[in-house]
Amino acid sequence: MSGRADEAAALDAASPLRTHRERFVVPEGLVYLDGNSLGPLPRAVPAAMTRLLEDQWGTGLIGSWNASGSHPGWMDLPRRVGDLIAPLIGAGAGEVHVGDSTSVSLFKTMVAALRMRPDRRVLVVEPTTFPTDGYVAAGVARLTGAEVRWCDPSDPLAAVDEDVALLSLTHVDFRTGAMYDLPALTAAAHERGALVQWDLCHSTGAVPVDLTGAEADLAVGCGYKYLNGGPGAPAFTWVRPDLVPDLDQPVPGWMGHARPFALEREHVSRTDVGRLASGTPPVLGLTALEAALGVFADVSPTDLRAASLSLSDLFVRLADERLPPASSGLEVVTPREHSRRGSQVSLRHESAYGIVQALIARGVVGDFRAPDLARFGFAPLFVRHTDVLAAVDHLVAVLENGEHLDPAYEVRNTVT
Ligand SMILES: *Cc1c(COP(=O)(O)O)cnc(C)c1O
Repeated sequence: MSGRADEAAALDAASPLRTHRERFVVPEGLVYLDGNSLGPLPRAVPAAMTRLLEDQWGTGLIGSWNASGSHPGWMDLPRRVGDLIAPLIGAGAGEVHVGDSTSVSLFKTMVAALRMRPDRRVLVVEPTTFPTDGYVAAGVARLTGAEVRWCDPSDPLAAVDEDVALLSLTHVDFRTGAMYDLPALTAAAHERGALVQWDLCHSTGAVPVDLTGAEADLAVGCGYKYLNGGPGAPAFTWVRPDLVPDLDQPVPGWMGHARPFALEREHVSRTDVGRLASGTPPVLGLTALEAALGVFADVSPTDLRAASLSLSDLFVRLADERLPPASSGLEVVTPREHSRRGSQVSLRHESAYGIVQALIARGVVGDFRAPDLARFGFAPLFVRHTDVLAAVDHLVAVLENGEHLDPAYEVRNTVT
């Protein structure tokens, strides 16, 4: 036992990210392995929100839209926040727009992609992806007359032929944590003339990607998971810069206009990615996200990925040693190869919901994804190896004591 504890403590002490946990509020005694669903509160956020509420909104009022003194102005927030996200996804300054939910962002980019390939009428999506991506694709198809084609998740390219305008994939699967080879799939779909969009919701902030290097076309991602922007934080959209002039999005509102306050009758789009904006930017959410992104200020993508893999490696190894499938009924469904693993590990078990609830009762927060997965996210900036060890200790105890079979867990909460 103590050998393992010593090893975990040594790994934490040697991590280049060992002090970053101090940048977050993590309740004492809690092992929080759900930063992939709702990131914890970064310490810088409350003060930023107080400044927003008291100085900018409370005192500055309408004047706070413009820059004045040390306040850079609200108008520019979508771009400023985008510039903070850009290094995490291999994008350049001015290439990322922030402001809608992921679902709405997907709607805009999917319609725009179809308009960029007018001779092609098929959107390819993957049937096991997060459902909203498929729902939005279906909505776009109904609106535009395009067709949704479900691909085989293990071979998405097989569905990409000369009719396909867009291949839209989620980089890291929300259920299993399996990761696609983003550069290889992008290149192969391009050979078939399709555009490629990556949903980075379960990547950004834990699994660095290089969208520019991969020559991807479009990407979206979430602000409230590993980016820690808070509940309902706005999402981001990246468009490869040379595609921006052709980007014709379906909700061209005044905030995407080149001169919103000229109040012209005709819509003239901004020339940058800000043309994705429709209405007034969500200033409260953007302000929280801007402050939250400060936690990544001096984090190298290499360190981030190495820390994430070190945590998930330890979890998988301890599960193998202490919870062998034959006795525990648990199966690790996340790929073991680093090249195919995101930043979470999922365990399949027929009582996965009860296991997750029993762990929460013990202060280990993961989540359940229907029908049978217990999911544990390893956000590398605040999760420690000692947390991984504690989580597995509790998991062993839950199964030994049968705590997961408590009848109280037969009725599921609304949010699982
Ligand atoms: C979390 C998640 C979303 C979230 O969509 P919202 O519209 O921002 O709620 C979308 N896609 C994937 C793959 C996700 O994991």
